[in-house]
Amino acid sequence: MCYQLVLVSTLTLSEVRSMLPAGTHADAMGPSTQVPYRALLAGSQTAVVLRAGHCACGLLQPRFRAAHTDEAHLRERYRQLKVPRAQIVRALERHRRSTAALPRAEPDALVRLAVEHARNAGASAWLLGFSPHDEPPALPATTVTTRCIADLTTNPDGWLVEGQVTLVRP
Ligand SMILES: [Zn+2]
Repeated sequence: MCYQLVLVSTLTLSEVRSMLPAGTHADAMGPSTQVPYRALLAGSQTAVVLRAGHCACGLLQPRFRAAHTDEAHLRERYRQLKVPRAQIVRALERHRRSTAALPRAEPDALVRLAVEHARNAGASAWLLGFSPHDEPPALPATTVTTRCIADLTTNPDGWLVEGQVTLVRP
């Protein structure tokens, strides 16, 4: 539910975890679920779902800037997907628990994480999805977009396009 963010890395799970901003955690995907995600990045060791609470929303503040509140934004996204009202209510409650339990990440925490990964650990692959389900975002059929560190720092709100695999290179 909510926004979900996948990171594919050449680092181990514990190395990835040691880089994360406060309040964020990385859940490893199951061994067979990881396979197609890890295929996105040569030499990858880990594919994780990054979360702050139950969802990735806490890391994605630029996505919410245009909306009056996070919940107004999320409600509109679910409406567009024609999600039943009861399910929207449950999803928003879960999102609310996530944001209440954790400090909000710095607005540029995600860019800093991706840049730090590129500088210290090399390339990484990212996939952002939005869905009423709990599975990691489905792999899109479209081509992979490649970005370098400068693309991230000059366009911190736009470097990661939802539904598109983004490869961040040093
Ligand atoms: Zn959320």
